Amino acid sequence: MTGPTANLLITGARLIDPATGTDAIGDLAISDGLVVADAPAGAERIDGRGLVVTPGFCDLHAHLRQPGRDGAETIESGCRAAARGGFTTICAMPNTDPAIDSAEAVSRAVAAGAGGACRVRIIGAASVRRAGREMADLAAMAAAGAVAVSDDGCAVSGAMARETFERVAAAGLLLIEHAEDPSLVAGGVMRAGPTAVRLGLPGWPPAAELTTVERDLALAGTTRARLHLTHLSCAASIEAVRGARARGVAVTCDVTPHHLSMADDWVAGSRRFAWDEERAPDPALAFDGRCRVNPPLASRADALALLAAVADGTIDSIATDHAPHPVERKLAPFASAAPGLIGLETALSLGLAAVEAGRLALPALVAAMSTRPAAIIGEARSLAVGATADIVAFDPAARWRVDATTLESASSNTPLLGMELPGVVRLTVGDGRITYRS
Ligand SMILES: [Zn+2]
Repeated sequence: MTGPTANLLITGARLIDPATGTDAIGDLAISDGLVVADAPAGAERIDGRGLVVTPGFCDLHAHLRQPGRDGAETIESGCRAAARGGFTTICAMPNTDPAIDSAEAVSRAVAAGAGGACRVRIIGAASVRRAGREMADLAAMAAAGAVAVSDDGCAVSGAMARETFERVAAAGLLLIEHAEDPSLVAGGVMRAGPTAVRLGLPGWPPAAELTTVERDLALAGTTRARLHLTHLSCAASIEAVRGARARGVAVTCDVTPHHLSMADDWVAGSRRFAWDEERAPDPALAFDGRCRVNPPLASRADALALLAAVADGTIDSIATDHAPHPVERKLAPFASAAPGLIGLETALSLGLAAVEAGRLALPALVAAMSTRPAAIIGEARSLAVGATADIVAFDPAARWRVDATTLESASSNTPLLGMELPGVVRLTVGDGRITYRS
């Protein structure tokens, strides 16, 4: 990672460290990139009153589009967006062009990801070309530095599923699953339900997610493979995870910031959060391709159930599924718009909006964005003395307007454009270096 080595004293901030159970007003001193008890002479002083200081955020699911689609994002611009969002680690998904599906490709991606404003961890593809027909060499990719494997964009194919889980278990790897059965989606472009019927758009049924979740939980139970279910969007999936854990299955899961906060009424032109009072949608905003995402924005009840599952710890992590696309792939009829939206620069703000609404405690949000996802890929995070400084300092009360011209990401595909959100990152320190400040 690049950036000047941190020598800082942040005074009077709210320090939240899930690793040590800390939540208190205090000072944080950093000397030569390490957390220390006393600030070195000449350290820069930062008035931390009103700021929250926590371990740096870790995103288990991001798309950096390099190689192959660097018009939408580059590793460099994605890392800048991540640092601005408070992230010190992002995990890059392998659905690039070509896919990251071999030890050589993992090594190249690891090298390409070094030297940016954020640590980049690489996820290898589970199958060759992510085509679901031939196993990739999982053990070799792990040896080359892959922290997990995934065919994200799709679930592991049915024909390969049992063998994949067995090899993941044998290699001691982590399988990140995009749970979706394409035969049940059958052309659906938004969540099935009354809004889809009213808009005349083909519906994507929750069963498309749940059947794959249940298949994967059963396979994780019999093979003992470590399974991580990403971007869960249905309350029923969370219930399935709870049931599997009660049976002793090793499973973790994440949810995106958009599935927590937005519901399918956004496709009809609503811009209220899931916890807000009902408001009439704005017809001028209906059918906005920027609301198309996979899995689709769920019902309001699902969004609130997902939020409650973050609050009670059932969901381990908030992961962005940052999916940049060029403007022309989103300015299209809804059903033809590319699915996905950017999230690295707005994830914290959407979480803080839920905190402000009284739906989530701030320490639970911090844990779901920092220490818990980091632990899933074997990274430690702490504000304790002796730790490498890997922190974010943010002002939870400050407001900012989402503006395409000021986003660090090379893309701006988010329906949040123009909205005012809480939470401004003031400082990000990754691996002892200052990677962002405002
Ligand atoms: Zn996915």
